[in-house]
Amino acid sequence: RLTPLVAGNWKMNGLRADLAQVAAIRDAVAAGAVAGAEILVCPPATLLAAAAQLCAGTPVAIGGQDCSPDAYGAHTGDISAEMLKDAGASYVIVGHSERRIDHGESDARVAAKAAAALRAGLKVILCVGETEAERTAGQAEARVAAQLEQSLPPEQAAAGRLAVAYEPVWAIGTGVTPSPRDVVAMHGFLRQRLKTLLTDGEVVRLLYGGSVKPGNAAELLRSPDVNGALVGGASLKAAEFLAIAKAV
Ligand code: 13P
Repeated sequence: RLTPLVAGNWKMNGLRADLAQVAAIRDAVAAGAVAGAEILVCPPATLLAAAAQLCAGTPVAIGGQDCSPDAYGAHTGDISAEMLKDAGASYVIVGHSERRIDHGESDARVAAKAAAALRAGLKVILCVGETEAERTAGQAEARVAAQLEQSLPPEQAAAGRLAVAYEPVWAIGTGVTPSPRDVVAMHGFLRQRLKTLLTDGEVVRLLYGGSVKPGNAAELLRSPDVNGALVGGASLKAAEFLAIAKAV
């Protein structure tokens, strides 16, 4: 069984006062509150170094929400994978639908970001997911398969440092989720695709994301091919996030 990964994506939320939530998560994890799961918090870039400092030497990992495909140079406003690592991150999320949509990120650009992150020694959470229109048209699996195939980094040996998050766009921030059966079906499908695409496809953790809350976490996440969660809104408060982590 793969160790589940419960990751909080704070998105563009959080000021320095909210580092208290990171400290509360750290203290609960250190006290053994969520034994059996790996815990990751991805705060905004402005809080990353401080969050990493708070969690240094503890089991709580800190991650970035995006990185540049380039190593350094004239890219105003961008942050390289090496900078994230230098600030104390061990993970980075790439290919989130909010970046694909808001910033027009193509699969190829996402693959380049994932490759840059792996080169810098980071672990990667690669996000895929269909829109509501694609699901209604019966194209959810085809869409997700294409995204996966085209946004995977070329490094074949990277499976152990890769997680894939299935985040249906229509479930993000809406309070609507797929049925547990639909989650199981999509994760089983993704597992098969990963095994075809990568030599070690069975070790890639498959996270579900989209309106995960304490009240639905257990039924959404307890299935063999669901190896954790990528949590947005409910990760902003330590108590809610920890309740989800305990349910996995
Ligand atoms: P919500 O949990 O707020 O729906 O967000 C999910 C998400 O996009 C995590 O990356």
